[in-house]
Amino acid sequence: MGETKYIFVTGGVASSLGKGIISSSIGKLLQARGYSVTIQKFDPYINIDPGTLNPYEHGECYVTVDGHEADLDLGHYERFLGIETTKANNITTGRIYKSVIDKERRGDYLGKTIQIIPHITDEIKRNVKLLGTKKKFDFVITEIGGTVGDIESLPYLESIRQLKWELGKSALCVHLTYVPYLKAAGELKTKPTQHSVKELQSVGIQPDILVLRAEHELSAGLRKKVALFCNVDENAVVQSIDAPTIYEVPLLMQAQGLDETILTKMGLPVGETPNLGPWKEFLERRELAESTEPIHIALVGKYDLQDAYKSIREALAHAGTYNDCKVQVDYVNSEKLTDENIAEALKGMSGVMIGPGFGQRGIEGKFVALKYARENDIPTFGICLGMQCMAIEFARDVLGYEDANSREMDEKTAHNVIDIMEEQKAITNMGGTMRLGSYECKLTDGSKVIEAYGTEHIQERHRHRYEFNNEYKDQYENAGMKCTGINPESGLVEIVEIPALKWFVGTQFHPEYSSTVLKPHPLFVSFIKAAINK
Ligand code: GLN
Repeated sequence: MGETKYIFVTGGVASSLGKGIISSSIGKLLQARGYSVTIQKFDPYINIDPGTLNPYEHGECYVTVDGHEADLDLGHYERFLGIETTKANNITTGRIYKSVIDKERRGDYLGKTIQIIPHITDEIKRNVKLLGTKKKFDFVITEIGGTVGDIESLPYLESIRQLKWELGKSALCVHLTYVPYLKAAGELKTKPTQHSVKELQSVGIQPDILVLRAEHELSAGLRKKVALFCNVDENAVVQSIDAPTIYEVPLLMQAQGLDETILTKMGLPVGETPNLGPWKEFLERRELAESTEPIHIALVGKYDLQDAYKSIREALAHAGTYNDCKVQVDYVNSEKLTDENIAEALKGMSGVMIGPGFGQRGIEGKFVALKYARENDIPTFGICLGMQCMAIEFARDVLGYEDANSREMDEKTAHNVIDIMEEQKAITNMGGTMRLGSYECKLTDGSKVIEAYGTEHIQERHRHRYEFNNEYKDQYENAGMKCTGINPESGLVEIVEIPALKWFVGTQFHPEYSSTVLKPHPLFVSFIKAAINK
């Protein structure tokens, strides 16, 4: 296509309006027209990355193949577009400043006074263009975290202003706002949108397209009014109404010609509207699946927050659709589980999912759930800490090591079935000190996992400090818990399973990060299949 085009997605009025979904939907529509697209997220907080953040702050930490701990919106980008993102797709203010300060210390600025404009803004602009120039994408979509009017967002907005000026038609700004419905007045209100656009204009940015998030249908008259007050073309005001699934949003945007408007504004040929074949097939299949009697999966964990297990929930939903069955995820707080209440807590559950996590809180409840699931042969899937818990519970109850534990939970345990690797011990810096990103794993013949994957060699993403202790491997295998996935380079155990049970699998890696709409993850598909047949 020649020069890379840049689309900026900003948000106003309130947070959580779904900028990530709108960015992903735009990406999907452009991709369906044959363009290569990537999406990046700029987060205006000072942390270098979200790796050290509590999930209650910004939800789950997503991990890219190249081992970057990233914002969960990157998960949406990958699930929608089926692409792999990298470290360059998620930048924080912390990283921007760090890079500028490092350059300053190196003397790169030749004695100049370092200022937000131009040094910080230049660094932001460099990071926007990096994906376009290095990887030669046709479109780079840049989502700006936070809302317009935040102090933290200002340097990003100033960078967008400059880029729009420099790039002309090759840059475009999509602004997402909210149109509330006042029940007492029976009216939809556009004033917050007008204010939000004014806020953008006050920093020199005229949005090209407005996406209005609303719970009620917006009339043509209302859109016309918004267009007039905000200096935006009428056909460039689109609505984004609550949809039964986020995966319908690309179609809702296409129906309003959002992709055509973008292409026209950027001086590109419009051509025929692509039919999003496989995507639509997924949605149709999903709709049928959703009309079935749901199976219940217990998600046992300590984070009472939907976003904390975002990718797991999405992966389970994908797997449900591909098994033509609705999956209902029931959160079970592991802190409350005891031997006395576990039967009640897991009543009616077709499967048990033990999620990732850090630290001691809620860990004993996970053992309670695992023992019950193992003894009652309920299909069970443990991920990362969940897999480690599977190993610990098995060591306590089957191998007879009552004090078995992970070194993370008990420094002094005599039976450290999960332990820290020597090279990790010396590290005190909390950021980026884990085994992160994609590693190879070789699967054992005849195992459930090789059957699910249909291949012997896989690559999966990791994010953990502790590992299965190989000194105990033989004892586990002799007692019926097999190590069916091994890292061929290091010999580390990546998967454990109990072949005698219907489906009892734990993975040290995070398969949930790589489940996408058009390519559901084989382990999730296999797990849900087992849960249905329970
Ligand atoms: N806390 C465990 C570790 O560091 C597991 C991490 C996780 O579940 N992501 O090894």
